[in-house]
Amino acid sequence: MAEREMPSYNEQPNGRKSEMAANKEFRSGMIPPEGTNEAAWWFAFRADRILAYEQSSSIRIPCVVNFSDLGLAVSSQHYLGLLGGRRCYAVELHDDMAAPRGMTFEGLRQVYEQLDEDLFWVAARAVQIVEWERTHRFCGRCGVQTEPQGMERAKKCPQCGLLHFPRLSPAIIVLVERDDKALMARSRRFPPGVFSVLAGFVEPGESLEEAVVREVKEEVGISIQDLRYFGSQPWPFPHSLMIGFTAVYGGGEILIDAAEIEEAGWFAADCLPPLPGKISIARKLIDWFVAKNMASRRPE
Ligand SMILES: [Zn+2]
Repeated sequence: MAEREMPSYNEQPNGRKSEMAANKEFRSGMIPPEGTNEAAWWFAFRADRILAYEQSSSIRIPCVVNFSDLGLAVSSQHYLGLLGGRRCYAVELHDDMAAPRGMTFEGLRQVYEQLDEDLFWVAARAVQIVEWERTHRFCGRCGVQTEPQGMERAKKCPQCGLLHFPRLSPAIIVLVERDDKALMARSRRFPPGVFSVLAGFVEPGESLEEAVVREVKEEVGISIQDLRYFGSQPWPFPHSLMIGFTAVYGGGEILIDAAEIEEAGWFAADCLPPLPGKISIARKLIDWFVAKNMASRRPE
């Protein structure tokens, strides 16, 4: 596949603009440009932990010409594309690899608010490519070792021909409004006190719209209407694609699914609980709701 421009996906067919900003500086590609000897970004992973170092109290990613300059043995290396004209690579390291002096392996979740946002989104690509490499060495159908499939990000089984692409798990996320309040819930997995909008994985055979309606019904027992697309975001924990919506309360009372949800309720924009981190689509949905409601309350 040739290097390609980011599509201009900000315009949606229903006339509503995506509320999510694109990572405009990144151009995905399979082959690095020839004849360049400039330093590249190296997104190197030991399992799901990224090689990084701290400088001036922020997290940095190695930026050198050749990764071998760092003296680490590489299991696999994948060119990802250009970020602001600079080459980006995903690197898979052995599970027992020690970090070079002055560097550490950090969890991606731990660095995602400390890393430059453009770099974080390339790291999100890198970790998923490395994970795919690690988990598709052998054909899932016949167990034979897979081979790279030419110019595609795919691995092919030489025996049965099965293609293995990087795995993506679509998940919906939705902010439901009732008058000037938003529905938020606390999952058992959240840090203490934190509430967010509802989210869940799409089931095979289900449309995104059906998934939203089902998730809201299952998790809090209410029905919704006026479902609208909001925007989407990759979420590399480990390979989700979050597709965001807004919706309006349609009926019913909150009845939580206690296996999934600890607490749920309607929150006004000026009375919100602790929220998820700034760059998550969950937070962007909530910020959109707050901006809208605060603007409508402004005195004339
Ligand atoms: Zn096979």
